[in-house]
Amino acid sequence: LQLTLAVIKPDAVAQPLLLEALHRKILENNFIIVRRKDLIWKRSDSERFYAEHKGRFFYQRLVEFMSSGPMRAYILAKEDAVSHWRELMGPTKVYRARYTSPKTIRAQYGLTDTRNTTHGSDSSESAEREIAFFFPEFSVQ
Ligand code: ATP
Ligand code: MG
Repeated sequence: LQLTLAVIKPDAVAQPLLLEALHRKILENNFIIVRRKDLIWKRSDSERFYAEHKGRFFYQRLVEFMSSGPMRAYILAKEDAVSHWRELMGPTKVYRARYTSPKTIRAQYGLTDTRNTTHGSDSSESAEREIAFFFPEFSVQ
């Protein structure tokens, strides 16, 4: 089984029914929930996590947004968990998502390209790094 990190971002956590729907989607798609955590980032956590985007035009708003309220993080396990979760989320940009893959989470619930409901690791290597970032107490042997 492969692990991935899935995060429900502050825009989605702020909508209790959406939070519940996304949790249900995880279960309906047969992911195993290995760990789950509700947390709020400091601005410095946000800056550290998104360091790769430093300098991009959306960096400030991204960092601001991700430290604006509670999030929920999951370690999910499934065969090909990384790509399955990303398929469920859909494209980063909400309008592209609506156009190309209207059934995805971001197409249905995304507000803007930044406030796009969810995060998912983009590779197994990212998953390992991101899981350690969100769940420092978790380690696979
Ligand atoms: P994530 O890493 O959150 O799963 P992603 O891998 O689809 O999303 P990245 O390119 O890693 O997208 O960007 C990280 C986050 O930065 C996006 O999820 C979104 O919140 C924000 N972002 C990315 N591109 C844009 C953009 N063009 N305009 C505004 N915000 C953006
Ligand atoms: Mg990414």
